[in-house]
Amino acid sequence: MNDVLRLENIEKIYNRGKPAQVSVLQGASLTVGRGEVVALVAPSGAGKSTLLHIAGLLDTPDSGRVSIVGQDVTALSDRKRTAIRRGQVGFIYQFHHLLPEFTALENIVLPQLANGIARTAAQTRARDLLGRVGVAARADHRPAELSGGEQQRVAFCRALANGPALLLADEPTGNLDPATSDTVFETLMGLVRDTGLSALIATHNMALAARMDRIVRLQAGRVV
Ligand code: ADP
Repeated sequence: MNDVLRLENIEKIYNRGKPAQVSVLQGASLTVGRGEVVALVAPSGAGKSTLLHIAGLLDTPDSGRVSIVGQDVTALSDRKRTAIRRGQVGFIYQFHHLLPEFTALENIVLPQLANGIARTAAQTRARDLLGRVGVAARADHRPAELSGGEQQRVAFCRALANGPALLLADEPTGNLDPATSDTVFETLMGLVRDTGLSALIATHNMALAARMDRIVRLQAGRVV
């Protein structure tokens, strides 16, 4: 079993049984293999964020199965799901969501402390990650003192802090100007390839999607 992510027949309905009921996912299935980078392309409102949240164990489907690194997580307790999410899944959003009162370094150290890593080891890893994305000189700066591209690079480091097997990204460069978006995307792909990560990256940008291994689309609640 080489799949890092496996979604089988995922259904998600919001406001079930009410007039405002929305069937967002209607039997969506998808696998991401080890070291594979998959682009998830769909118009706004098609359910990309819902699918990513379910894949990252932040939300549960109404039916269907989710497996991470070969383990079926569907029936696990919240505690076990949280442990798998912390250790195996990294998230990147369109906005960096860094904690404003902490430095770049601390933003990468904190998730490691929450995962039981000792502070010194966590700091060493954080500095190494910042060096890899070219932001080492900004380690002691707070997010407000960083450019948009730098903020997003730090957010990449935070997502990789605990050495996840799976990276989930929702429009990771969608908030940046086109030129910055391009170089920041290159950085992300370099980081993913160097670490052998598997990734599912939602984007509207077909030029970026074309640089990934495979493109899947979300249409009428299914992956095609
Ligand atoms: P995307 O990321 O592709 O833009 P989303 O997954 O955010 O799409 O949303 C898909 C659909 O589900 C949209 O029509 C949205 O309005 C609806 N939706 C998302 N979250 C909720 C919620 N918590 N309650 C009700 N409807 C929701």
